[in-house]
Amino acid sequence: MSRIRFDALSETFSRKPVEVVSRGMRSEVFGSNVFSEIVMRQYMSKEALKNVLEVTQGRGTIDRKLADEIAAAMKNWAISKGATHYTHWFQPLTGSTAEKHDAFFEPVSNSQAVEKFGGDQLVQQEPDASSFPHGGIRNTFEARGYTAWDPTSPAFIYGTTLCIPTVFVSYTGEALDNKAPLLRALQAVDTHATAVAKYFDKNVSKVYATLGWEQEYFLVDKALAYSRPDIVQAGRTLLGHAAAKGQQLDDHYFGSIPGRVLNYMRDLEQECMALGIPVKTRHNEVAPNQFELAPIFEEANLAVDHNSLLMDVMDKVADRHNFKVLFHEKPFAGINGSGKHNNWSLSTDTGSNLLSPGKTPMKNLQFLTFFINTIKAVNDNEELLRASIASATNDHRLGANEAPPAIISVFIGSQLTKVLDELEDVSKGKLSPKEKTELKLNVVGKIPEILLDNTDRNRTSPFAFTGNKFELRAVGSKSNCAKPMTVLNTVMAKQLKEFKQEVDALIKGKGLKKDEAIFNVLREYIKSSKRIRFEGDGYSEEWEKEAEKRGLSNNKTTPVALKAGVSKKAIDLYEEMKVMSETEVKARHEIELEEYAMKVQIEGRVLGDIARNHVIPTAIKYQNTLIDNVEGLKEIFSDRFKELAGEQLDLIEAISTHIAEINSRINKMINERREANKIEEAQERADAYCTKVLPYFDEIRYHCDKLELLVDDDIWPLTKYRELLFTR
Ligand code: ADP
Ligand code: MG
Repeated sequence: MSRIRFDALSETFSRKPVEVVSRGMRSEVFGSNVFSEIVMRQYMSKEALKNVLEVTQGRGTIDRKLADEIAAAMKNWAISKGATHYTHWFQPLTGSTAEKHDAFFEPVSNSQAVEKFGGDQLVQQEPDASSFPHGGIRNTFEARGYTAWDPTSPAFIYGTTLCIPTVFVSYTGEALDNKAPLLRALQAVDTHATAVAKYFDKNVSKVYATLGWEQEYFLVDKALAYSRPDIVQAGRTLLGHAAAKGQQLDDHYFGSIPGRVLNYMRDLEQECMALGIPVKTRHNEVAPNQFELAPIFEEANLAVDHNSLLMDVMDKVADRHNFKVLFHEKPFAGINGSGKHNNWSLSTDTGSNLLSPGKTPMKNLQFLTFFINTIKAVNDNEELLRASIASATNDHRLGANEAPPAIISVFIGSQLTKVLDELEDVSKGKLSPKEKTELKLNVVGKIPEILLDNTDRNRTSPFAFTGNKFELRAVGSKSNCAKPMTVLNTVMAKQLKEFKQEVDALIKGKGLKKDEAIFNVLREYIKSSKRIRFEGDGYSEEWEKEAEKRGLSNNKTTPVALKAGVSKKAIDLYEEMKVMSETEVKARHEIELEEYAMKVQIEGRVLGDIARNHVIPTAIKYQNTLIDNVEGLKEIFSDRFKELAGEQLDLIEAISTHIAEINSRINKMINERREANKIEEAQERADAYCTKVLPYFDEIRYHCDKLELLVDDDIWPLTKYRELLFTR
């Protein structure tokens, strides 16, 4: 097969652009496919509504007696909107979403049918899910897995299906998904943050974690994407010479969005709006054909669901527009990869953002408390946070072109650095009246309400304070945000629990006033978490050296990084915060290691196939043409032959050399794969794939890419970078 040429492409372009059906004003469309409170009021009794609302606010459970009524309301609403099926929608550990559709329709006799969906079907299901990853949990315990309704995330209609967000757990209650641990972590951070927030406002009775993700992605013409076996099977290009023009000119970033892409985005936004995903911004990213989409932040569990749903919707809408979305963190070598910044904060039920400074010194002390506790939590658990964002695909991005390094550090900006420096000098124990006034007026009182300008500058930091929230930038574009959000909220919960204990001990034991006690504990935290703060260039080599001196981890690969997730410290933490049991933690680790090995294995096979079946035969074909040419020249110009065929002879030789290099490396890679597959133990197998198999990829690629430059463009079988990246 020769590669898809531009003339063939015109077919794609000539297709009528997909019409973007306007479904009215955005504000009218927003949430029209969501089983929202407004809808519930129409379809449910007061009693049932009260029950659901309480549960969504984290109080109580669904009354089984009311479940039938709630289910009927959901069903009637869904059918009125044209739905025919329902599904328990969940997020298994494969990282994507899963659903199994059942029809509402149920025959009651030979000639009669009813639409059936009761409380039992709403609350719990047993999907035939034996093939979802479970890390041994279901082998050792009980084969069944259940999905159970998560009422804190509203049901929605997608297409003609009513989707009910659920957790996926084993028969014995172990989490088999990404949502269950997240919900437990959010519960933990609520408990401990509420206790601390009460120091500042007695009326606080609940604290929500908030999340605003920013989704980066590449869009590639569908026909071109499907012409590349590596994109189809691995989601990224495994070879391909860089285009002459990449992103050097920075002319794509924030440039005008190409028309065909804009059509896609509009259509996508319409769908998102109906699903209640509050998408707000869209723009070009740095690399050619790279874009970003971001919503208004939401409660973290809902935001995670919305991001998972969005990725699914993006795929489907792209298909209609003859695009393929690449969510991979590094689909193309040599240009920027894609991330998913996780903007995170904590918010009270009284409407206060705990990471936002305010007008009064008390409000600012609250801000400093949560701010410094976050820094301390990250400092004490940097390795665990790194583990939460580790994946085979993200390994290609961390530390590469414009991506945060694998070292976790915290950036806070010069203004706040100055504040922390001053707080570090607060004297021990009781504060003198003079010192108190000084603190109130000149330190705490001087924190401006708006810090945005000062804090948004350092783009190289993996964990940056950006004015009223922290931004975790190391998350991969493909990952489920639940993983880093589970870790971040768990470590924060634990940190706040300790903080409260220490402050209370100073108040009760030493008779300090509340603010004195808080200042005293914060001062110690500032000192003990200093090593995590870094304001310089996170991409630089000096930082790598400096970080090592500071004792910060620099776990560059997934098999190494994941270890921190199963350390004794991590297991104790998860158990103490009731987020995961040791069994759950270990099962997850096993799954992640297996996934890593499988991904590298698949890529190795795909690369071997492309190199052997596409690249080498094409190179030989071209070489034969050259040989024919040389022989012809020899016949015609026997005396001047050497002089005339010099270039061709060099080419013939170079092609042979590259072919030989490719072949020998593929053989070696296959041998290493065989050896790795014999290893039983998951950690050792993943290590082998990482250190023995993976290194061949770049070497094989190098020679293939050289051949791409030598071989006649007319017969090169693979769509080239310049075509993938600049067709739109
Ligand atoms: P960029 O990082 O591209 O410059 P911003 O810093 O403006 O963009 O990021 C804005 C993102 O931060 C949005 O997704 C927004 O919803 C989110 N965000 C803003 N405030 C909060 C908050 N309190 N909690 C969580 N996310 C927030
Ligand atoms: Mg950002």
